[in-house]
Amino acid sequence: MNYFVVNRGDEESCKLVKEFHLLAAAHGMTESRCEPNFVVSIGGDGTMLQAFHQFRGNLATASFVGIHTGHLGFFADWMPGEISQLITLMNAPPQASKLRLVTYPLVEVEVVKAAGEAHSFMALNEFTIKGIDSTLVAQLNINDEPFETFRGDGICISTPCGSTAYNKSLGGAILHPSLEALQIAEISSINNRVYRTLGSSMILPKHHHCDIYPKSEGRFLITLDHLSFQENQVTSIRCQVSKETIRFARFRPFPFWSRVREAFIGHDFN
Ligand code: NAP
Repeated sequence: MNYFVVNRGDEESCKLVKEFHLLAAAHGMTESRCEPNFVVSIGGDGTMLQAFHQFRGNLATASFVGIHTGHLGFFADWMPGEISQLITLMNAPPQASKLRLVTYPLVEVEVVKAAGEAHSFMALNEFTIKGIDSTLVAQLNINDEPFETFRGDGICISTPCGSTAYNKSLGGAILHPSLEALQIAEISSINNRVYRTLGSSMILPKHHHCDIYPKSEGRFLITLDHLSFQENQVTSIRCQVSKETIRFARFRPFPFWSRVREAFIGHDFN
């Protein structure tokens, strides 16, 4: 059984990494950067985003597990005091461990530049595009049909996993991660007598796609989860639900809607 640990780098996470390695060695597990069966994230949801991008090439074979230091996470099922129990379950036969592998959708983004070159990216939470030098002006097509001309700060295309992150701050809906869909949310659109956008977020099924054709000049800020970079001379950007998925190893039930309630509402029903 091979594993690799990605951690947030803070004192508590580093301490837990040492504990994890000791217990894993005692169970005969081997640390492997190249072919991990389990990628273990120790830290926050942001750490799982890092783990996903680091092991983007291992999605077909690796299962992700999260240990959360601090508050409860959307990508983490385990608390620091439960590492021993988790490692025992990771090494138990699947029936005894009640292991369930759940796969969640990702968003695939293809950026085409004026020179014709194309670059493909993947996000676990979301992709965003914003104007740097000026307001973003972009034509949005859905399934190759012109839908609207967007003017504003930017556009956010999120996965169901990312629906509880930036998308939620933008007023988007929360989607159960078992739904194979992507969500388009506006970032501060300009709406008046001259400029008009839908103003609501839209949820596209797996067999649909959207294209963004930037009309404004200058540089764009592109983000993929926690990563960001600048681009110019962007001709088009296609977003669709990826054929690849991320696989999480679940050893006990932790319903998504319980996570949502605990993260955003708390336990108090009064
Ligand atoms: P960060 O700015 O340090 O933290 C962003 C916060 O989002 C953290 O509290 C993080 O949780 C939480 N988070 C990450 N993924 C989540 C998810 N799927 N559902 C609910 N909460 C989630 O940046 P970061 O930790 O590197 O994370 C990058 C993410 O920040 C982006 O993917 C984007 O979704 C989000 N973001 C949000 C806004 C906004 O809401 N206005 C603006 C920019 C970016 P932990 O503390 O557990 O790590």
